[in-house]
Amino acid sequence: MAKTVAVIGAGISGLAALKCCLEVGLQATCYEMSDAVGGLWKFTEHTEEGRASIYRSVFTNACKEMMCYPDLPIPDEYPNFMHHSIFLQYLQLYAKHFDLSRHIRFKTKVISVKKRPDFHTTGQWDVVMEMNGKQESAIFDAVMICTGHHVYPNLPLKSFPGIEKFKGRYIHNKDYKDPKEYQGKRVLVVGMGNSGADIASELSQTAAQVFLSTRSGNWVMSRVWDNGYPWDMVYLTRYETFLKYVLPRSLSDWMYQKMMNKRFNHDNYSLAPLDRSLRKEPVFNDYLSTCIICGTVVMKPNVKEFTKTSAIFEDGTAQENIDTVIFATGYTYAYPFLDDAIVKDSNNEVALYKGVFPPKLEKPTLAVVGLVQSLGGIPPTSDVQARWAVRVFTGECKLPSNSSMLEDMEEKQGKKKSWFGQSDTLQTDYVVYMDELMSFMGAKTNLPCLFLTDPKLAWEVFFGPCSPYQFRLTGPGKWNGARKAILNQWNRTIQATKTRVVTGSPHLFPFFHLLCFFAVSLLSLAIVLMSK
Ligand code: FAD
Ligand code: NAP
Repeated sequence: MAKTVAVIGAGISGLAALKCCLEVGLQATCYEMSDAVGGLWKFTEHTEEGRASIYRSVFTNACKEMMCYPDLPIPDEYPNFMHHSIFLQYLQLYAKHFDLSRHIRFKTKVISVKKRPDFHTTGQWDVVMEMNGKQESAIFDAVMICTGHHVYPNLPLKSFPGIEKFKGRYIHNKDYKDPKEYQGKRVLVVGMGNSGADIASELSQTAAQVFLSTRSGNWVMSRVWDNGYPWDMVYLTRYETFLKYVLPRSLSDWMYQKMMNKRFNHDNYSLAPLDRSLRKEPVFNDYLSTCIICGTVVMKPNVKEFTKTSAIFEDGTAQENIDTVIFATGYTYAYPFLDDAIVKDSNNEVALYKGVFPPKLEKPTLAVVGLVQSLGGIPPTSDVQARWAVRVFTGECKLPSNSSMLEDMEEKQGKKKSWFGQSDTLQTDYVVYMDELMSFMGAKTNLPCLFLTDPKLAWEVFFGPCSPYQFRLTGPGKWNGARKAILNQWNRTIQATKTRVVTGSPHLFPFFHLLCFFAVSLLSLAIVLMSK
């Protein structure tokens, strides 16, 4: 009989997990506490307990060719960067296309997941659900946790002495919906991740003044990158990844900083990160630099302390008469239905092999999907994680021994620090990580071989965007439309903005581009050979 799997959550990750289970013949049931699919992308007017919450103006920060599932391109007519309501339509389309909804039990919250007494031999779980105030339980052979990682606000009030005296209002950005109530107010936003930058720029239109305080600064990228293409179509390539790792670190860092400072000098805008070589997630924001140059957002360092009405910063400056503080200080992870000891290490941090499997379980029958953070979109990442996880459940793929997994995690931790700095998030390099999981499933594209058999495709795979379709090009789970989707990805990108016929536009000289590629490739090869 087919193994049974409980998938918890029907957001991006849960939908991918459910589909991957069904693909390999597992008998999956998905439990979703809300009444529809979409997770975080299903906007609600009010914050709900135990679920992520977004503001009204959220747009994707990955473009449509990079933020789709690998086997279902986003419709041609959708814009490159999508408002949350449009991206939600895509998720609904995905659920419909693969006929997933009939396997989902809506308005059903999982409240407990426990090992069964005979877990060491069966690997089975007791799962308790609650719907309409009634509880129900069931036994499952495996569990996939897809409950999201932007649910529990990190509100580090202890880091901000005097906040208890502050007479104004303070909130975490999870409770921010739109700028209406901030009209004419003096607002301090603390934390410059994507939420902080978005909210500060949005408020700058209506608030009397916005201050944006950042502890360590960050690089700010525009969604619109070289020649007007989406940043990730240009930057998230195998070629860039190859250069990053093959060049001496100092040269690679220099090139990275040069690229980041191309549009404006981050020092002059008080944005520059303290450690400029780290590849932690940049801020994707097209407006922040304009707000700063127009003075509607004023950058400040970390807050040292609050008084009744003001904020005093670490450089000794102060801002008086602050009405509201919005802490955009990120999120912490929690799985309240599960014993922490299963997923957390001795430092009380979530520690999983490849960001998916708890390394110390007697049987590999529990997987977390969607936790790892990288520059890539979550849909392809969750799809690849889920495809690997279900193959571990079926026995088609094997995990290394517990000690090897722990060793690997320790080694990766060191590398993570060197590239991404000290952080609680599980940051990783998109291309390297995805290829690693693909190789576990025997589904990684053999690029040298592809250059011999299909050079046109190989060229696009290496030099073009590392789009999701690449992860269903070969091997188990292959999608037959992948080649065509890869070769058409630029056309679809351009189509979305070319909504008016323009005559007489000059054609670029492709030979010049070719020449540039060869020159840069030769140069990098020469540098590598010299540095050996
Ligand atoms: P979620 O979307 O959070 O879905 C989890 C689901 O699980 C929810 O439907 C919830 O109701 C359900 N659930 C939770 N607990 C239970 C339970 N106990 N029982 C039953 N159901 C449960 N990522 C990108 O790739 N690109 C972006 O542009 C991007 N923009 C973002 C913007 C914002 C403001 C934020 C906060 C995050 C953004 N992210 C982005 C990251 C985002 O987390 C992912 O896009 C994605 O939503 C994660 O999907 P998920 O399915 O893992 O989690
Ligand atoms: P985040 O990326 O974790 O950023 C949190 C910020 O808070 C960081 O700048 C961090 O500073 C700061 N911070 C944390 N603790 C602090 C402390 N004690 N004192 C001072 N500063 C502190 O969180 P987020 O911005 O909410 O983003 C969460 C995820 O959602 C990200 O993956 C992001 O890409 C995504 N998102 C996407 C969009 C979109 O446009 N599509 C919009 C919003 C969010 P340090 O850098 O110094 O640690």
